[in-house]
Amino acid sequence: MSTAAATDTRPMRLFRARVSRITDLTPSFRRFTFTGDDLHEYGDPGYDQRIKVVFPRPGGSLDTMPTADDWYTPWREQDPDERHPFRTYTTRAVRNELREVDVDMVAHEVSGPASAWIRDAAPGDEVMLAAPTIHHGGARLGVDFVPPERTEKYLLVGDETAAPAIAVMLEQLPREARGVVVLEVPYEADAAYLPEHPGFHIEVAGRGDGERHAHLDRAAAEQAAALCPDGRGSDVEEVDVDSGLLWEVPRTAKGGAALKSAPLYAWVAGEAGAIKRIRRHLVREVGVDRRAVAFMGYWRLGRAEN
Ligand SMILES: Cc1cc2nc3c(=O)[nH]c(=O)nc-3n(C[C@H](O)[C@H](O)[C@H](O)COP(=O)(O)OP(=O)(O)OC[C@H]3O[C@@H](n4cnc5c(N)ncnc54)[C@H](O)[C@@H]3O)c2cc1C
Repeated sequence: MSTAAATDTRPMRLFRARVSRITDLTPSFRRFTFTGDDLHEYGDPGYDQRIKVVFPRPGGSLDTMPTADDWYTPWREQDPDERHPFRTYTTRAVRNELREVDVDMVAHEVSGPASAWIRDAAPGDEVMLAAPTIHHGGARLGVDFVPPERTEKYLLVGDETAAPAIAVMLEQLPREARGVVVLEVPYEADAAYLPEHPGFHIEVAGRGDGERHAHLDRAAAEQAAALCPDGRGSDVEEVDVDSGLLWEVPRTAKGGAALKSAPLYAWVAGEAGAIKRIRRHLVREVGVDRRAVAFMGYWRLGRAEN
């Protein structure tokens, strides 16, 4: 009989972690650095890699959170008033050797379990992170940034919830990459959040008291038209963002990019109503090739994630 400890090689799982540091980067972006005994096993497929963060109910213990591979099914069977809520976030940085993971969260008005936790959290507080492990084997689990191998220009468009993903892309894309970022953030001072990239022009605006998404709509349309002057518009089917999910990521059956090369690859994420408008404009009016554009409704104004 073998006495060797079984090695856990699951490609994804729940990690139990606690807050080790909280850093206010700008007025709206708050960095949570998590540490945990097994975070040396936390995977880092990169770019816009999404995770679920499970927040403990006030006064509750995460011991009641199901942790099997298929944790979602037993979680759904738990009493909705008793189970721990979770929301979707982006891995910002992983330091396996230090057993640390950074997640940057927008401190928006308190309207749900995540925003309440973001406001009140303190070092030592626990969460669970549903994320890939180092055994993901190159499968880009939860990664929706899938550009063609030869992409001449990138257009990255988002609101503040997409800023962590755009920040990772700017850090990880090669120095020779070229493109434009259009970003809308709550305040002018939040513009400092994004890192620089020598090949990217960054058009960021704080909305202040102005209308939400006005900058995003205008600047995304202008930049797309400049980057794709010869596009030919095509029809787009409408998505009801109040009942369905706006999530369109072109890829092959094996998960790769739908095209081998493209003059422009667009990645657009944020509030679903704004993303729907931008999607329609980019595909129908500007004529960006649908096979080279990813649209993701990250959240919906007036509607909780689950
Ligand atoms: C793939 C993906 C990656 C994401 N990555 C990040 C990330 O890295 N950092 C990050 O901060 N967010 C990120 N988000 C967005 C985040 O999941 C939502 O903002 C989340 O719904 C907040 O949860 P909540 O409990 O505060 O609100 P919910 O309970 O989900 O919603 C309650 C109310 O709050 C409103 N609301 C939700 N989010 C916001 C917001 N940002 N501003 C204003 N009102 C809001 C809703 O419209 C609703 O009316 C990501 C979402 C997805 C799908």
